[in-house]
Order: sequence, then structure tokens, then C-alpha cells
Amino acid sequence: MEPHFNNLLFEALPIGLAICDMEGKLTYVNPAFAEILGYSVPETLELSYWEITPIEFEQQEQEQLNSLKKIGRYGPYEKEYIHKDGQRIPVRLSGVLINDDNQELIWSSVEDISEQVLSQEALRFSEANLAEAQKVAGLGSWTLNIFSGEAYWSDQRYRIFGYEPGEVEPTINNFKKSLHPDDRYRVISELMDAFKTQKIFNTECQIVQPGGGERTIHIVGKTVQGDDQKGSYMSGTVMDITERKIVENELIRAKEEAETANQTKSKFLANMSHELRTPLNAIIGFSDTMKAQIFGHLNDKYLEYAEDINSSGQHLLQLVNDILDLEKLENERTKLRIEEVSPKKILVEIIPYINELMKERHIKFVDLCDGHENVAVMVDKIKFKQVLLNIFTNAIKYNIEDGKIFLGCEGVDMGITRITIEDTGIGIHKDSQAQVFEAFNRLGFDDAVVKGTGIGLTISKHLVELMGGRIGFESTKGKGSKFWVEFPCATVKEL
Ligand code: ADP
Repeated sequence: MEPHFNNLLFEALPIGLAICDMEGKLTYVNPAFAEILGYSVPETLELSYWEITPIEFEQQEQEQLNSLKKIGRYGPYEKEYIHKDGQRIPVRLSGVLINDDNQELIWSSVEDISEQVLSQEALRFSEANLAEAQKVAGLGSWTLNIFSGEAYWSDQRYRIFGYEPGEVEPTINNFKKSLHPDDRYRVISELMDAFKTQKIFNTECQIVQPGGGERTIHIVGKTVQGDDQKGSYMSGTVMDITERKIVENELIRAKEEAETANQTKSKFLANMSHELRTPLNAIIGFSDTMKAQIFGHLNDKYLEYAEDINSSGQHLLQLVNDILDLEKLENERTKLRIEEVSPKKILVEIIPYINELMKERHIKFVDLCDGHENVAVMVDKIKFKQVLLNIFTNAIKYNIEDGKIFLGCEGVDMGITRITIEDTGIGIHKDSQAQVFEAFNRLGFDDAVVKGTGIGLTISKHLVELMGGRIGFESTKGKGSKFWVEFPCATVKEL
């Protein structure tokens, strides 16, 4: 049978319409209904209602039929149809009982809800993913309506506070109850302030879990303003930072202890050096007097002893001074004045200091820096000079008689100035090379053979690195060493 309504309207409706008798025989379907099932209208009319209904829905269908008989209508409810290709199509349907020429008929409207089901599934999937991610990250989320006190807490938010998800009502009062009494007032007033000022709520506090366990949490929230004042709410995250806090506090304590120990060490060194220097100066002074035989003639043996006392005293004094220098560096008390410095100019200043030493050992100085006179580096002038002086002195001390020192300049084209000081001396055995920059390590040298305390290069390395540069060397035992320092070029001026 055809409905007595406007047929054209039904034909054009995007919602499926179907009429069937009480046995399930379809007597009318509109094109939208046929399309849901994938059949043409005539094909659909060949089908019985039960042929397009999966077996597992039959009981549910029966209940809807009962409702239809009782109250004259059914639905809306959701079920599935069997598509022509065998697939299931999720639909929402509702209907009424009509009477046509004393024949009872069911008039149903059917809506394909495949897309809604898909998006609901996607939503459920992303919610499950989010919950899993929160669990893995230990990060909970929450929202709070400050006016109604209503809140939403994610599962992880519950767990952080020591509850099973959903165990208590997510309300501001239950949040307040969880806060440690020492933090409660502060946290709630910070929360209110953040609401009032629309600023970020960001705080760390202690909470007490239902079992009595105390945890430290970090909460962050942002106010989201609704259309009216009453609609404004805050949404945010919460993280359990108890373990991180324990480590942080331990680090702070360790740092404080180290600082105290360092201060004690500095004090000790300052006192010690004072205590040592006073008698050392006396030893050096008196042995000088004895060496000069001011108060009378000394026999050769005593003169030799006086010289030994004097040089040992000098050596000890140098050691004490070096220890103090190193200590100053380690405390970074050394303040730097970084400026544009020309290595060439520094070299000119150094030469008078080392000339005498070079002459004594007949060492020839060869400058291979031609063409780089205008190169400048960004360094502290005094410290840079100290470093170069140390390397030069070593190149003389550890050279052979009649040896040579070559001064070189490399890498300028690459924007880096590498100053090299190469000697033709005794070199450093490869097994000892790793210890060259170690404090007080002289690689087996005795003060009586070559004067030194084994600290010059340690200080040089500290200084170079403090100025942002690098220091290194290459050496071959018996052939010589090439020490270098490297700094970025300040300017490269054309000649
Ligand atoms: P010092 O010269 O007072 O011993 P340094 O710290 O300047 O202390 O040098 C550390 C050690 O490195 C020296 O004792 C020496 O054994 C070695 N060394 C440094 N420069 C050279 C060099 N140019 N040739 C060979 N050995 C060197």
C-alpha cells in the first residue's frame, strides 16, 4: 500500500521511511530507506523486515513490537540492519502504529547513524588513549567551576590523590580536604586569586592521601572565562612530584654542604699559607744572608747547604703561591675582563720576560706569524698573557740547549685563531700525555733538574676554558712538543 500523504515529500526526504505489516512484510519504502540498505526500492520491497534484521536484535525487536501494541509507538532506539553487501549498518529508528482500511501497519522512520557511531568510537578511543597517556606520564587533569564548586577529575587525578577513579565526588570540598593542613589556606587563596586575576594558577603543595600517605604535587590551572561570570571555570593538570622533590632537596643539601666545605677549605688554605709563608720568608731571608756571607766566611759545605736551604725555600714558597692561585680559580673568584686583544702585542710584551731565559739556554725564537699581525681575539688580556707566558717558559725549560721555538698562527680563515708554540725539546712520552694538565703532576721531573711545581698548565687550562677557548698539544718523545691555544677571532682586519 502507498501512504495517504504527500508522496513527493516522502520520496525527497533524506530520512528512511518504511511501512510494513505486523508480519514484517515491507509494503512501502522511500528511496532513502532503500539506499541505507544498498538495494533499489523494488528490490527492498521484495524483502521482509526480518531479512534485514540481524538475529541478535530479534529479542529487542520483539520488545519494541510489544511497546508498539501497548502504546501505539516505539523507539527511538538503535540497532543494525544487514546491508546488501552483508555489512552491518547502525541505524536509529522510531515508529508508530497506523490503521489503514482496518489493517494494522507499522510506519517507521530510519536514520543511518554510521558516522555518529564512528565518531563516538573515535572519541572513546582518544579518551582511552588520553587516560593511558596520563597514567604513563603520571599526569592528571581536572576542571573546576568555582561558582558551583563542581569539578571533573581524570582517573589519574584520582589516583594521584590516593583514590580509585570515581571513588569520591569530584568537588572543591573534597579537593580542600586532601590538602595538607599546612598548605590548605595558601593553596585555596592562590586558587581564588588566579580566578580573580585570570592569571595562571601554578603551585606546589603537600596532600594527604586517605591512607595517611603524604605526597608533594604540582598543580597548574588556567581560567577559562564563560559568557557570564558564573560560567567561568578553570582547567588544568596535576602531577605527583614527591620523588623529584626528594632528589631536589638532597641536591640542595649536598650543594650547601659542599659550599660550607669549600668555605672551610678556603679558610684553611688562607690560614695555612699565611702560617707557612711567614717562616718560609724567614728561611729564605736568612739563607740569603748566609749565602752572601754577610756575617762571616762560610766553608764550602755550609755554603752549599745554605744554597740548598734557599732554593728549597723558594720552591716551597712557589708551591704555596700556586696552591693559592689554583684555589682562587676553582672558586671562580677570578673575574674576567674580556676584550679585543692582539696576540702579537701580547707577544711583544712577553719577550722581555723570556729573553734572558732563552739566552741562558741558547734558544732561538722563530716567528712564523707573518701576515697575521692584525688578528685579534676576545680574551682577558692579563690571563691570556699568563697562559702564553707559561707555555713559552715550558718551551724553554723543556727544550734542549741550542734548541728552537716556533711561534705559529693557524685557522684564521676559518674564524678561529690558533696560536701554536712549538719546541725542539725533550717531548712528552705518549703514556704520560693524559696527565699533562693534572695539578702538581710533573711527569717525573725533579725540581733540581727543571724548576717547576706542575701547576702552570692546570691553571692555563682553567683560564683558557674560562675565557671560552681551548688548549691542547701534540708531542713526540725526544723530538719536541707543540702546545696550542684557540679562541674565536674578534676581527680579521685586512692588511
Ligand atoms: P711545571 O713546568 O711547573 O712542572 P706545568 O704544569 O707547566 O708545570 O707542566 C706540567 C708538566 O708537563 C711539566 O712538569 C712537564 O713534565 C710537562 N711539560 C710541559 N710543557 C712541556 C714541554 N714543552 N715539553 C715537554 N714537557 C712539558
